[in-house]
Amino acid sequence: MTSEENIDKKKLRCPKLGGEIPFFYCRTVQDGMPCERILGCWEPFFDIGSYLKEHYTPDEIERFLHPTPKDKMSTLLEIIEKAKKKREKK
Ligand code: SF4
Repeated sequence: MTSEENIDKKKLRCPKLGGEIPFFYCRTVQDGMPCERILGCWEPFFDIGSYLKEHYTPDEIERFLHPTPKDKMSTLLEIIEKAKKKREKK
């Protein structure tokens, strides 16, 4: 087993979900990118800062650490779009 696989299997208690989850989940949860809280959660367990620098560009890091919340209008439009699709299927 590679050290990457070992890291993926490390577990901690997620403050968002409440249960134990593996690092793999934390590094892929935002559409394949890491959770915005990954630094704070994993810092006590290993050098997560270096890990992120090795695996992601500075731009990617900036984006997943500071995701832009969807504005209300986009969310509303998505809900309307889903409702339309549901109605079309009937
Ligand atoms: S990094 Fe995110 S998903 Fe992982 S334990 Fe922390 S809050 Fe939960």
